[in-house]
Amino acid sequence: MNCRFCEQPLLPTQNRCPRCGRFADVPQGDHTFRFSKKDRDNRHLMAALSYLNILVLIPILFARRSQYVRYHANQGLVLFIFWSAYTLATRLFVLFLDLLFGGIYAAIPATLSSIFSFVSIIFFILAILGISNAVKGRAKDLPVIGRIRFLF
Ligand SMILES: [Zn+2]
Repeated sequence: MNCRFCEQPLLPTQNRCPRCGRFADVPQGDHTFRFSKKDRDNRHLMAALSYLNILVLIPILFARRSQYVRYHANQGLVLFIFWSAYTLATRLFVLFLDLLFGGIYAAIPATLSSIFSFVSIIFFILAILGISNAVKGRAKDLPVIGRIRFLF
């Protein structure tokens, strides 16, 4: 087996790469090993705040020194921005349709509005996933949005 990060050949007994120091068996998108246990244990509630909508500003402003919190704050911020943009865009779209088809065809914008609300459950699920990881002291990338970096 070779190290996934630097291709260094590893013995079967080595779970940590002697060349780059990274753990060999971490799943893709799991950055937990980059943060100290102390940081993860002490700041897990602050990290979880990152996924509560606008409250992401609290970890961004007040936990700058915690790398673990920064990781989750970045992800929470990305989620918040995407969630807000989605909500705004779909509401404007429905409003626009309402102006066009209001009255006799009012069912069209009303139906679309329900579908858009239903789809936004995805963001809610991502937030729950993020909170769950943060509280457990894990730094795992969320599906789709997890690779985007704003804060570092
Ligand atoms: Zn390596």
